[in-house]
Amino acid sequence: MDPFEDTLQRLREAFREGRTRSAEFRAAQLKGLDRFLREHKQQLQEALLQDLRKSAFEAELSELSISHAEINLALRNLRAWMKDEKVPRNLATQLDSAFVRKEPFGVVLIIAPWNYPLNLILVPLVGAIAAGNCVMLKPSEVSKNTEKILVEMLPRYLDRSCFAVVLGGPEETGQLLEHKFDYIFFTGSTRVGKIVMAAAAQHLTPVTLELGGKNPCYVDDDCDPQTVANRVALFRYFNAGQTCVAPDYVLCSPAMQERLVPALQAAITRFYGEDPRASPDLGRIISDKHFQRLRGLLGCGRVAVGGQSEESDRYIAPTVLVDVQETEPVMQEEIFGPILPIVTVSSLDEAVDFINRREKPLALYAFSRRSQVVKQVLARTSSGGFCGNDGFMHLILASLPFGGVGASGMGSYHGKFSFDTFSHHRACLLRRPGLEKMYSVRYPPYSPRSLRV
Ligand code: NAD
Repeated sequence: MDPFEDTLQRLREAFREGRTRSAEFRAAQLKGLDRFLREHKQQLQEALLQDLRKSAFEAELSELSISHAEINLALRNLRAWMKDEKVPRNLATQLDSAFVRKEPFGVVLIIAPWNYPLNLILVPLVGAIAAGNCVMLKPSEVSKNTEKILVEMLPRYLDRSCFAVVLGGPEETGQLLEHKFDYIFFTGSTRVGKIVMAAAAQHLTPVTLELGGKNPCYVDDDCDPQTVANRVALFRYFNAGQTCVAPDYVLCSPAMQERLVPALQAAITRFYGEDPRASPDLGRIISDKHFQRLRGLLGCGRVAVGGQSEESDRYIAPTVLVDVQETEPVMQEEIFGPILPIVTVSSLDEAVDFINRREKPLALYAFSRRSQVVKQVLARTSSGGFCGNDGFMHLILASLPFGGVGASGMGSYHGKFSFDTFSHHRACLLRRPGLEKMYSVRYPPYSPRSLRV
């Protein structure tokens, strides 16, 4: 018995009937999504609190308002984005009409992770709706409380013949991936990204893969340590470190490490108090499995700040590790928790070499008062995104594409990039039926004269 077939059939039929094509329909669905967020705001905040102990402030900033902003941007620009894009013509086509038409792929599958369980399912959904697709959504089974609201409430605000929310863990998602979709948008780990891409290959389905990795953070000697510490701590410990674009480790000189450690301690105390466990602003680790994995990483290097953990509420203190070796587990896997290792290097060249020996990260950060240092790091490395002198501010700008490169993913989205990701760019040329005499120079039999045309 296949639990997905009937639902998929319904979506395919709705797409074939052209139900999602008009701008009016798309706008109505986007407005429905906006209403869903407003009418269930409190319930969603409560669910995020239960899943991740996410504070109302973090929930507002990183889940709700970002989704509203994407919806509003799409509503304001929908008609302009949908317009055919005229392209320049050459001599052979100067009397024709040539344009790129953005047409929907068809039935799209969106698979989401648990760390921003609302944002990472709704923001892609905005793009998929705006581009005129039917959509099957598969939230993460790990963020159970948010998943429950998505499956029970969201469909009430959307056209049910065109949109569906389905449930499932690894096994069910594997089953789901055996079906033919017209596009798959996956956010999650690099390991599962490979499974998704292999399944998509069976049907030649195009994919966007938004994956993870280790995001380096280079700190130059010419910096104000407290400013750097404030910014790195904010973005490392936000959502208890469970952020794909969080600075994963710091690279700096031994001298800068000496100045950075007390500054990080001061930032952590200022943000979360003397006992961070009592702070309402520090999240918790999503599951026992992730808690055990992170507790294991606390044994790497030497604890310079924090290091405490409490299994009963999956609490890991904001931690800084020093004397960390490149070969230790904390430098081998994506940390995805409130632990910040510092690896010392003797020069900018050594830092760049360290970064380039590894997989291309999703994000890369460089701090320096000297703009040429930041620009050098940018020029000599590669990553999905880059931010100089701050944490992941580049991703709040919808005019920048958000996505990875290499092992951190392929494709991008946000704002118009989402619309383009979920659209097939169809090359169109419309020629007049007449002017046969002029065009007949193309026809065989060819002679040396034909080449002079
Ligand atoms: P995950 O890969 O374990 O799960 C993601 C989704 O895939 C979930 O919906 C899950 O049900 C499904 N899944 C899990 N195992 C599967 C399998 N064997 N077959 C088919 N489907 C399967 O990731 P996660 O733990 O939910 O999220 C954390 C990871 O996601 C981190 O690596 C993080 O960096 C990454 N991430 C990336 C971004 C980004 O935008 N690039 C954003 C958030 C998280």
